[in-house]
Amino acid sequence: MQTQTNTSIQDTIRELKQQGNFLALSRTADSRFSSAFQFLIETHTQVTVVAKGIISFEPIAESTKDIVLSCGVHGNETAPIEICDDLVRDILTGKTIVKQRTLFLFGNLPAMDIAERFVEENMNRLFSGEHNNLPTGQKMNHERCRAKQLEEAVKHFYLDVETEPQRERFHYDLHTAIRASKNDKFAVYPFLNGKAWDKYQLQILLACGVNTILLSGSATTTFSYYSSNEFNAHAFTVELGKVMPFGQNNMQNFSEVVVTLTALICDEDLQLKNYCSDDFLIYKVNQVINKRHADFELNFALETPNFSDFPKNHLLAFESGMEYRAQYDGEAIVFPNASVEIGQRALLTVIPTQI
Ligand SMILES: [Zn+2]
Repeated sequence: MQTQTNTSIQDTIRELKQQGNFLALSRTADSRFSSAFQFLIETHTQVTVVAKGIISFEPIAESTKDIVLSCGVHGNETAPIEICDDLVRDILTGKTIVKQRTLFLFGNLPAMDIAERFVEENMNRLFSGEHNNLPTGQKMNHERCRAKQLEEAVKHFYLDVETEPQRERFHYDLHTAIRASKNDKFAVYPFLNGKAWDKYQLQILLACGVNTILLSGSATTTFSYYSSNEFNAHAFTVELGKVMPFGQNNMQNFSEVVVTLTALICDEDLQLKNYCSDDFLIYKVNQVINKRHADFELNFALETPNFSDFPKNHLLAFESGMEYRAQYDGEAIVFPNASVEIGQRALLTVIPTQI
């Protein structure tokens, strides 16, 4: 029995090194990853397969950064999944050599299979322990188990390394938005509980083609807030454009992201532009509008892009007994979704700010 298991792990390692097909095997043959295993690439990189969709690469030589790249927390957000799949393939097959510790997380594998955002519920509302906070009558589900597993993977990755004060932690949680955005790529900067926003991080995002930053104003149960709040990581939810089916993304649109992330994990020059506030559109949250009634409606066209702005007093949404209006000229809408469950956020509004 033991021998057979060992053989199959050796077969898997051989296949991973030859084909780099970690995501494909995670989706189609996940029993191969039912227990963790490790192997080396040449003599330079330690690989740890933690579980299906969870793999880390650690240079044998000294490093200074611990970088988490996650994708597919929403299963139909294919571009980031394809970007990470390519990076992992290139590392496994020896084409790319990481110089910094890097953990890749492919979030919601069953949702990828059905080309949906999630199977039972939105995973990006289940972090910082929210997965344990079961509403009365609700059973544990796949998304809750996986959120817990992803949290643990991040925790071990950050803590299983000699703690030197110089080490820097990163977590870029890569997404694509349901709708188009006036600003094609944007990032949500999790609430820092009063700490200063980091301009160097914005320079890295700009190199990725992300010039629009939304400063979050409160604690949330997103994945990026978890890493930021619990591990002091530089963490962001990065939205890279609009949701498309697998294979239909124009990967040219993501070349800056790929080049910059590759340079980051390979410890190459990031070619950053000096910080200049004119390069960015920075917003802060003004209104968080939750759906309270089944008749909640948005008062703008379905295809209205994220960050479209409206004049003061413009009616943005309404429901029984309530009207939601712009409070400022230039107030913009983000993440509108009238079909969320009652009690959940149906719309955010944002206004320009400076850091
Ligand atoms: Zn998403």
